[in-house]
Amino acid sequence: MENCIFCKIAAGEIPSATLYEDEDFRVILDLGPASKGHALILPKQHYANLYELPDELAEKVIRLAKKMVIAMTKALQCDGFNVVQNNGEAAGQTVFHFHMHLIPRYKDDHAGVTWTPGKLTDEVRDEVLAKVRACL
Ligand code: AMP
Ligand code: ZN
Repeated sequence: MENCIFCKIAAGEIPSATLYEDEDFRVILDLGPASKGHALILPKQHYANLYELPDELAEKVIRLAKKMVIAMTKALQCDGFNVVQNNGEAAGQTVFHFHMHLIPRYKDDHAGVTWTPGKLTDEVRDEVLAKVRACL
């Protein structure tokens, strides 16, 4: 993808604070971190989002996320981790090259990776169960 900033970062054409790199991925520090150590896993190939990501890379990315979370927890002595992955503008995605956020959490850090809980009604539960099961 010609004008994709994450393609350029993943390829090493734009410098980045790289924590890890292999043939499929580059892991960089986010420039607008939610907490100390907030990192992004970028595939080297361009896929806009999870819908487009091939199964093989989807499997690899969760393995890499686990490896990074273990290493970063040890290194940074954080107390927990959020693994976040946004798809589509409605979901808050701003860079349309698949990426996975690795957000170290520290006790009382108020990093704000959260949502307001609603209430699961019987009607909505039944509707969602029926609709989703029909598409699997
Ligand atoms: P999202 O909202 O899920 O698309 O996340 C995009 C993330 O990319 C944000 O957390 C940004 O801070 C981060 N970001 C954008 N441009 C860069 C860049 N050049 N280097 C590192 N992180 C970036
Ligand atoms: Zn890209």
